[in-house]
Amino acid sequence: MSQILVTRSSMPDYEEFCEEIKKLWESHWLTNMGTEHKELQRELEGYLGCPHVVLYTNGHLALENVIAAMQFPKGSEVITTPFTFASTTHAIVRNDLIPVFCDVNPEDYTIDAEKIESLITEKTVAIVPVHVYGNMCDVEKIADIAKRHGLKVIYDAAHAFAVKYKGVSSANFGDAAMFSFHATKVFNTIEGGAVCLANDTLVDTLNDMKNFGIRGPERCVFVGGNAKMNEFQAAMGICNLRHLDREIAKRKSVMERYRERLEGVAGLRLCRPQKDVESNYAYFPVVFDGFGADRNQVFEALGQQEITARKYFYPLTNSFECYTDLPTAGVEKTPVAAYLADRVLTLPMYADLALEDVDRICDIVLSCRG
Ligand SMILES: *Cc1c(COP(=O)(O)O)cnc(C)c1O
Repeated sequence: MSQILVTRSSMPDYEEFCEEIKKLWESHWLTNMGTEHKELQRELEGYLGCPHVVLYTNGHLALENVIAAMQFPKGSEVITTPFTFASTTHAIVRNDLIPVFCDVNPEDYTIDAEKIESLITEKTVAIVPVHVYGNMCDVEKIADIAKRHGLKVIYDAAHAFAVKYKGVSSANFGDAAMFSFHATKVFNTIEGGAVCLANDTLVDTLNDMKNFGIRGPERCVFVGGNAKMNEFQAAMGICNLRHLDREIAKRKSVMERYRERLEGVAGLRLCRPQKDVESNYAYFPVVFDGFGADRNQVFEALGQQEITARKYFYPLTNSFECYTDLPTAGVEKTPVAAYLADRVLTLPMYADLALEDVDRICDIVLSCRG
């Protein structure tokens, strides 16, 4: 039996990529906003229906920079969730801001919008909600809260590329949205990321910040770092974007097969498809509660058959040892997230996962009941 990993990066045909990078052997222009960078930016603005896309070498620096660009006073509070990848919380803390952890809701595992307002203080400046697994946050309620309290909203949309709510791309909600184009994401540029913005007020700042704060050959306006996307990354993105809709359709059939096999099984909870949301089927999370085997036992059983599932998201970021001194840390403050982190497993999910392999994975999961 062959090994199955939790994900498998989408790649164009070898020849297609070679054709795309051939130009680079002619131009010898490898990075610093070259023609591939410009083309990918333009294509993404079209694909996402978003007026401003600023490309980055990875999603984390995109998030860190867009938070920095908003120039919040040091020590301000940012409401976010701990049910996420390390990057979200680190991006807040590395900007000298304090993450205040809001719980997630038990339906789609995104921030519980009903609980946001009770966490707002006079020090709150922003909300950094996270779209998870291809589910979207309650963007309408969050926009309403932000407006009433004068807060910025920056979405961590790393899981939500190509996801739409009422026909509008996830790129277009909040003051900014960050995407990750990491190899493991639905759309990848090997490593990569972007900030998407509805208006142009921060575009120049972000372009400066990702290039040492250099604006023009004789001006340095900002103490910026280096977070530019290079031409090879952009070329990979241009190729992968051509096939993305087909890849997502294939992910959808994988998801449907999982649902056919696992829906309604006692002790298993699957995410219900969200109303008005077109998902990208980024992950397939299953919550084990009263199943006859716990999450860790299922994880081990799959591992014994060389199938890698992932305890995602576990541990919660508010229990990381690097945050023991953070007064807002502690999983007891976010009981729903704590419940999920102990019980959730994301099963292998990628476009080329064969349906027979989905069956094999489901057989192993179901056999764990004893
Ligand atoms: C992948 C991911 C990131 C970070 O993106 P990179 O491109 O790997 O830097 C941030 N947040 C979430 C939720 C992610 O899944």
